[in-house]
Amino acid sequence: MNHRSLQDTFTPSEIIKLKTLWKSNGRSPGWSFICPLCRITRKVPLHPKPQPRHFAQMLITSAFFTLLTWKLFQWKGLVCFIPFWCIFEVIYRSRARAALYCKSCGFDPYLFLVDSNLAKREVEVHWRKKFEQKGIPYPEAKGKRPLQQAPSPRP
Ligand SMILES: [Zn+2]
Repeated sequence: MNHRSLQDTFTPSEIIKLKTLWKSNGRSPGWSFICPLCRITRKVPLHPKPQPRHFAQMLITSAFFTLLTWKLFQWKGLVCFIPFWCIFEVIYRSRARAALYCKSCGFDPYLFLVDSNLAKREVEVHWRKKFEQKGIPYPEAKGKRPLQQAPSPRP
């Protein structure tokens, strides 16, 4: 078997260049990062915001719609770009937001930025579900109280 490792072929600095995920080549869609909780390399296929090519696609779509409805609206049909863009942006951003969720550990970076306690609870819910599916009791932390139970005031 003629199998060589990366160390045989490349210098250490070249290996770092090969393995890094933070440098994009500009053509690959989306971005990649390492999940801070489970350390799995994540590749999200979508950018957080729509790209210029989406803008061009929406222009072509609205031009096509304008041509279809030319007898009704004529040039005013180009206004359809605005509602098309609104619908597209809502769908695109919700898909990009859903793609951030790590399926292996339940960590949601966006939710962590908005409310870290809620993100921690979501991770715990995720792991409780996973343990429940396997039929294993969830290991409760010693001395940990649920967030709802506050110490009762003494008179
Ligand atoms: Zn993860």
